[in-house]
Amino acid sequence: MNTQQLSEQYVATTYARFPVTFTHGKGSQLWDDAGKEYIDLGSGIAVNTLGHADETWANAVHAQLLQVSHTSNLYYTAPQAELAQALCTRTGMSRVFFSNSGAEANECMIKTARKWGAGRSTIITLEGSFHGRTIATLTATGQPAMHGDFAPLPAGFKYAKPNDIADLQAKLDETCRAVMMELVQGESGVLTLDKDYVQAVAQLCKANNMLLLIDEVQTGNGRCGSLFAWQQFGIAPDIVSTAKGLAGGLPLGATMFAASTADTLTHGTHGSTFGGNPACCAGALHVLNRLDDTLLADVQAKGEAVRAALQGHPGVKGISGMGLMIGIETVRPAKDIVADCLAQGVVLLTAKDKVRLLPALNIPMAQLQKGLDILAKYL
Ligand SMILES: *Cc1c(COP(=O)(O)O)cnc(C)c1O
Repeated sequence: MNTQQLSEQYVATTYARFPVTFTHGKGSQLWDDAGKEYIDLGSGIAVNTLGHADETWANAVHAQLLQVSHTSNLYYTAPQAELAQALCTRTGMSRVFFSNSGAEANECMIKTARKWGAGRSTIITLEGSFHGRTIATLTATGQPAMHGDFAPLPAGFKYAKPNDIADLQAKLDETCRAVMMELVQGESGVLTLDKDYVQAVAQLCKANNMLLLIDEVQTGNGRCGSLFAWQQFGIAPDIVSTAKGLAGGLPLGATMFAASTADTLTHGTHGSTFGGNPACCAGALHVLNRLDDTLLADVQAKGEAVRAALQGHPGVKGISGMGLMIGIETVRPAKDIVADCLAQGVVLLTAKDKVRLLPALNIPMAQLQKGLDILAKYL
């Protein structure tokens, strides 16, 4: 059996996959098992921050693997400590808990919020949000269709309409202890929240002694043109989660605490066997060092270039997002466009009914342009 047949027989049936088996990549190029070349405008799903097989990134991970690849969290390791320091230094946050995924980073955020304000149990999240697939993060996800088969769900979540401060206000009561949200809702169509709304939510949280929890699993790590998207919204979150692009292709989640929540999780109240693995942290440290002001300015410029290239195209109804997190509302069904482009050697994503672009942050402009030219033909 070939890879696709093996996978269909033995791997759980959770994924509807495209009939493509990738064997290797370099930068923003990928090749399949028939030798066909692709331009990758998806980076996994915003994971390969520096593209595929980046040599200095791979060397940093490799060097760490040859030193020590795992010790458990009963002991100190330098990459984890240095990564926590780097994240705090560049964000003004105070402490970091490391896990392996976005859902876990959000679980930690939810646990911390519950422990922080004992007696008040409700976390308000937004309709259309996506926070993960574990039972608690699935419940936090404001998409009832996804809750369907998994009852009973944990109590303590309420949903408010995005960009509607009156709706949020109406849902506040004395049980509420936090608001949790993405600043650009990724999975539900790359919807950027209004800055005024986000600032009003932050004020509401402060006035009601509630925590502001920001899910930057997708928007973080340079994706939106700043190290974290919140830095462009003029807010000071209490807790921020991230994962996807953090380690440039290795599994790593981080939950970052401001001073307000830095000491909430005490010894023994949370943990992870693999979280903060030295090799993953070495990869993340390398990614973070590469995400300097020049690269972040480049992300902004390339995002603008994509918008300029597609704006006014008769097949485009609208363009949303920030930096290199881009949603395109199309006339043709997005899934048809994505399938056509894949056949033509361009890897794209969908987000609900939109085409979604999440290219590597260091994609060369010429490759980005080539991908856009092909996309333009199938819009
Ligand atoms: C992908 C995503 C998650 C879940 O991350 P996993 O690593 O798949 O668990 C959570 N929140 C947001 C905003 C995401 O985009």
